[in-house]
Amino acid sequence: SVTSVQYIALNVLTVIILLLSRCCDANRKLLVFLIDGFRYDYMDDLQNLAGFREIVENGVKVDYLTPDFPSLSYPNYYSLMTGRHCEVHQMTGNYMWDKDTMKEFLIGTNPDSRLPMWWDGSEPLWVTMQKLGKRVYMYYWPGCEVTILGVQPAFCEEYVYNPSEKNLIDSMESALNMLKSDKADMAGIYYEKIDVEGHHFGPHSPEIQRAIRSLDQAFQTLNQKIKEKNMRDDINVVLFSDHGMTDLKWMEKVIELDNYIDMKYIIKMMDRGPVVSLWPKQDKFEEIYQNLSTVDNMNVYKKQEIPDRFHYKNGRFVSTLTLVAEPGWFITENKAKLPFWKNGTEEAEGWQHGWHGYDNEFMDMRGFFLAQGPDFKTNFRAGPIRTVDVYNVLCKTLGIEPLPNNGSWSRVECMMRSSAGAVRAALIYSCLLPLLLLTL
Ligand SMILES: [Zn+2]
Repeated sequence: SVTSVQYIALNVLTVIILLLSRCCDANRKLLVFLIDGFRYDYMDDLQNLAGFREIVENGVKVDYLTPDFPSLSYPNYYSLMTGRHCEVHQMTGNYMWDKDTMKEFLIGTNPDSRLPMWWDGSEPLWVTMQKLGKRVYMYYWPGCEVTILGVQPAFCEEYVYNPSEKNLIDSMESALNMLKSDKADMAGIYYEKIDVEGHHFGPHSPEIQRAIRSLDQAFQTLNQKIKEKNMRDDINVVLFSDHGMTDLKWMEKVIELDNYIDMKYIIKMMDRGPVVSLWPKQDKFEEIYQNLSTVDNMNVYKKQEIPDRFHYKNGRFVSTLTLVAEPGWFITENKAKLPFWKNGTEEAEGWQHGWHGYDNEFMDMRGFFLAQGPDFKTNFRAGPIRTVDVYNVLCKTLGIEPLPNNGSWSRVECMMRSSAGAVRAALIYSCLLPLLLLTL
C-alpha cells in the first residue's frame, strides 16, 4: 500500500517533471512580420510611436539590418527565410531571365514566376517547418502560393498589391487565433504600404510619416491583442524589413543607356533602376562593355568581376553584364520608354521619389529588426546584424535545427535570453531526487 509520504513524494515528482517539460520544450509559437521597405531609422521618433516603443522596451532592437545585394525585395525575402546569400539561394532579382528556357521571373503575380526553378535553389523556413509536420500560416507573403520543393504552407492568403491596413489587422487577429488554438506553429504576415509610399513620395515625405504612424497603430493593436489573449509568455514576435529607401532625383539623375550603346545588340535587359541585367550579343559583348565602362555614376561588371562582397556573381540567373548605379541614380534604356515617367500627363513629371536596390552597404538601404517574447531579452539594444543572420534566430525560437546557412550566430546570440532558468530547474531536480528516493 502507498503511504501518505510516498503519495506526496510522487506528486511532487510529477509536478517537477511537468514544470521541467514545460520550461525546456521549445514549443513556443512564432509570429513574423515582413514590413517591406521600412528603413532602419523610420522609428527614430519613438516618443511618438507607442506601438514600436512598447516592442523596443519589451524586447530587442538592433541598430540596423544590412540587406543582401541587390537591396531589392525578392532577393532579401529569400535571404531572410533561408539564411543564405543570393548567389546561394538563386533568387537574385525582382526580375530574372533564364537564358536556357527563355522564361522570365517578374515581381508580382506572373504565372511563370511560380516555376520551381526560381524557388527551389534553397529551402525556406516555412517549407522546413511543414516537412517537420509543423503548420505555417502565411498572410500576403510573396511566394506562399508557390509549391517549393514539393511543399506549400498549411495556409496561404495570396499576395495582392499593397494589402490594406484592414488586411493587416485582420491577418494579425487570425494569426494570433491560429497560434493560440494550436492550428499553427508559425505565422508570417507581409505588409507593403511603407515601400509603396516610400517609392511614390520619398523617405522624407509627410506621406511616409503618415504610413509609419498608421503601422504604429497596428502594432499597438497587436500588443493589446497579445495581452488580451494572454499569450505574452507563449509567443515570440519577430519583425523586420527587406531593405531601406533613398531619395530619387528623377530629373537630374537618370542614366539613359541608348546614349551609349545600340540597344539592338542587347538580347535581353531585365529591370531598370539601381541594378540592370544585360545579355549583349556575343560578337558585340566587348564593344558594349567598353562603351558602358565610360558611363559616369555607374559601374559595369562582367559576371566574374562583380565584387565578392555582394555574394551575387555565382548566381545561376546572373546576366553576362551587370550595371550598378551610384546611390540616387536610375538606369534605364530611355526616359521616354518608362511607363510611369509621364504619370498620365504630357508633362515629363516623374512620380517616383524613392528607390532601393543599390550597394547593400549604402546606409539608406538598411532595414530594421525587432523581436519580443519569452526567448528574447527585454529592453536590449544590439549592434547591427545582416539579413542572413535572421534565419538562425527564427530557427532558435522554433526549436528546430537550422539548415546550413551564411548567417552568423555570434552576431545574434547576445539577444537571446539564456537558458539559465532551465539549467537551474534541472539542478534543483537533481538535488531533490535523492531526497525523494530516501522518503520512498
Ligand atoms: Zn520597393
